[in-house]
Amino acid sequence: MNHEVIGGIPVLWADAPGPLEAVLMFGCGVQDETLRTLGTTHMVEHLAMSTLPRLHHEHNASVDLLTTQFTCTGRPEQVVAFLAAVCEALTALPLERIEQEAGVLAAEDGRVADPATAELLSHRYGVQGLGLAAYRGPGADRIPVEAVQEAVDRFFHRGNAVLVLTGPPPADLRLPLPDGERPDRSAALPVLRTGPSWREEDVPGPGLALHGDLDDPALQLACKLLSQRLRDTVRHRHGLSYDVGGDAVLAGPGHGERTLCLDAREGQEQRVAELLWEEALRLARECPTEDELAEEIAELREVYQDPRSTTCELGEAAGALLFGGTYQDPQTRLAVLEKVTPDEVRQAFAAALETVLLVVPCGTEVDPKLPDGRPLPRRACGTEGELPPGAKVFRPPLVDRLRSSDARRARLAVDGRGLWAREPDGTVHHVPFTEVVGVEMRGPGRVVFGRDTCVIPVVPELWAGIGPAVDAVDAAVPGQLRYPASAFRPAD
Ligand SMILES: [Zn+2]
Repeated sequence: MNHEVIGGIPVLWADAPGPLEAVLMFGCGVQDETLRTLGTTHMVEHLAMSTLPRLHHEHNASVDLLTTQFTCTGRPEQVVAFLAAVCEALTALPLERIEQEAGVLAAEDGRVADPATAELLSHRYGVQGLGLAAYRGPGADRIPVEAVQEAVDRFFHRGNAVLVLTGPPPADLRLPLPDGERPDRSAALPVLRTGPSWREEDVPGPGLALHGDLDDPALQLACKLLSQRLRDTVRHRHGLSYDVGGDAVLAGPGHGERTLCLDAREGQEQRVAELLWEEALRLARECPTEDELAEEIAELREVYQDPRSTTCELGEAAGALLFGGTYQDPQTRLAVLEKVTPDEVRQAFAAALETVLLVVPCGTEVDPKLPDGRPLPRRACGTEGELPPGAKVFRPPLVDRLRSSDARRARLAVDGRGLWAREPDGTVHHVPFTEVVGVEMRGPGRVVFGRDTCVIPVVPELWAGIGPAVDAVDAAVPGQLRYPASAFRPAD
């Protein structure tokens, strides 16, 4: 791998078969947004791409949780022209096109993680950073133009970019981006739930997340082996599932989440969840065999030695530069993996299981136990509790109270500190005003989103005489967090 600096930007390149491929990568993604500004990075990307003339060679752009990437493949002169045009667009974004592009964004499926991984991230981190993967936000037509400009200024400059090329840089390559400081990534993301716990969620199948050192070869092998065992049992032996997926998501220097998610044939969600947990427990208790590990390493060797993985390796190295990690070449990584013993795999997995978050589809009845027999604590939104004394209390509309005993028991309470909603079964949801990450205005009503994943609707359909509650929300929550409901979505 070769390392040069062109126009102040690190350029990583290695020869690979096929035409020249370029990836201009910025260390900026969905994790840098907030619930209120969700979609801003994607808007920047779309505005920049909208300035390009029609191109006949392959090109694309994308935004994920951590990065924004502009990619193209073609003859060297085409690559040079594409990169210069993207850089120029980013220095003078056509902000006047924001409305048209909002429509395009609304039509595009902008998901950045599979549904179970997204929910696991939001349980771990709340409605912020990586946890935003589970949210749609206010909608593309509510992205503030100031947030777009701020994202460009903070992130889309020379100090936060790396270029990757599958061949030597063309002589006339130029990357006209403004100067800027690389964002400080040394702080770890605030974690909301360290685990271990489980939760029901609106997901197609079960999944689990482990928090740990993403560079730990024993944990990497453990997760890969667990995926393989699940493929063998859940898919091949029982025919209950088609896909076993997994992800590794960087959360800060040296650590992050490893997730493992399965889909489930309809009606088999519970069995799949049980098999997932059984296999996880088995790996924490019993050492895998030498043969099993050898199989996993043989597969990794094939992937690492495939000449088509060059772009992927360059991308890994670019990510390490942007986020302060250490890149190791495939040979070094393989040599480290080959030294890992079966007991180290088991130990790494058992230790990581202390951080486990498990999600299962709603209505799935599971009773997971940790390896030492402790029940895995169940976490649900809201807790048993009382409404605060002295708060102003609201009840459902009279007609609902006459018809339903549930409505007779439900309450909404508001005081200067926040909102409480009591469900008929006694569960109390609470959003302190200091933890509000967004307020959707629905006509006379408000839907209040808390950082801790609680959502409290303060709407006339649910509560009678909500005027004072709405006034309290509006008085307590900063104006920039309130937005009218998107015109692109039907009210739900
Ligand atoms: Zn709640």
